[in-house]
Amino acid sequence: MSAHFATRTVHTAGADPGGSRPTTAPLYQGHQFRFDSAERLAAAFGDQRGDFFYGRYGNPTVRTLEEAVAGLEGGAAATAFSSGMGAISAVLLEKLGSGDHVVAQSCLYGGTHALLEELAAKWGVAVTRLETDTAAEARAAMRPETRVLLLETIANPTTRVCDLPALSAEAAARGAATVVDNTFATPLLCRPIEHGADVVVHSTSKYLSGHGDAVGGIAVSARADQHEGLWSRAVNLGACADPFAAWLTLRGLQTLALRMERHCANALDLATRLAAHPGVERVHYPGLDDHPDRGTAGRLLDGAGGIVAVEPAGGRESGRRFAEALRLVALGPSLGDVRSLALHPASTSHAALGAAELAAAGIGGATVRISVGVEDAADLWADVEQALVQAGA
Ligand SMILES: *Cc1c(COP(=O)(O)O)cnc(C)c1O
Repeated sequence: MSAHFATRTVHTAGADPGGSRPTTAPLYQGHQFRFDSAERLAAAFGDQRGDFFYGRYGNPTVRTLEEAVAGLEGGAAATAFSSGMGAISAVLLEKLGSGDHVVAQSCLYGGTHALLEELAAKWGVAVTRLETDTAAEARAAMRPETRVLLLETIANPTTRVCDLPALSAEAAARGAATVVDNTFATPLLCRPIEHGADVVVHSTSKYLSGHGDAVGGIAVSARADQHEGLWSRAVNLGACADPFAAWLTLRGLQTLALRMERHCANALDLATRLAAHPGVERVHYPGLDDHPDRGTAGRLLDGAGGIVAVEPAGGRESGRRFAEALRLVALGPSLGDVRSLALHPASTSHAALGAAELAAAGIGGATVRISVGVEDAADLWADVEQALVQAGA
């Protein structure tokens, strides 16, 4: 019996590739799966990690991304999220209850900082912010109720690199989980699980997708048993990854190694030239000899990353003018894109911080963060050089 037109518009046949398979991950842009028997569907309700079932619980494209990133990070299991903050929220909500305590690195991503303040105000989670990020300071900050040590591989925008193995050992000794935001380093430069991390989080919006066209996040657990609770927390939080964003991220991931190599080479070139320029007061880049964490970076990172922070001479206004005078380098909030991006934290991402708080976070009023892209290094330098002239630095 042939169905009527309206039915046929809904029930289109899907192509079956038969014996051959696509070389790239297919995009399963659908939010549910159909079952051949009521019994099988009932079983799926009972075991929500079994068959694919409903999009918030899992999707084959999203699963492909989760397995890929878990593998690159050397973890046992991963869950993808709608954003980096989705991943960080799920991890902290899973690990923490009211009355628990977090020890956090001095300089954290703004969104993470805001989330901790919220957890403290609304849920009674105590937070200790480190000042020097040393293992001794972390040890002194630990309490019996400390559940999480929260770190970032390369801090934003200071590019400080903490001693991950020493710090995670302090957490492990006290039974606390080490959670590391590895967004700036990517697993190409650092695999925090190798250095004692229990959970690694990413904003895949940045380097992992790499082309500024997707928002996403992921959390990777070192051990499968640590991931069970996180998975159900993620399902209930509902910040699940969209299949298309996951697909774009998978496409970007294929060139991660190529892109990171170029990001690192261009960043080192730019940082070196900036450091030699008379209009520049300071350059923060873990690949430069005068970086305070040069040794730690050399030990933990396979490359110094694509983020350079520069302080043009002349103070806060000159930093703002420099950022505004850039032409090829786009003024924008994000990072980790193939195109170069710049941000003046004191007047934008960190505008809520007073001069003293900025100084405590290690951020100069003049500091401009440059996410160095994969363009030709000579063109980047030409743009940065003219902007320094215009800034009157
Ligand atoms: C961007 C970013 C986040 C937040 O990720 P979203 O995808 O924007 O939610 C978290 N941590 C770091 C280090 C980031 O750069």
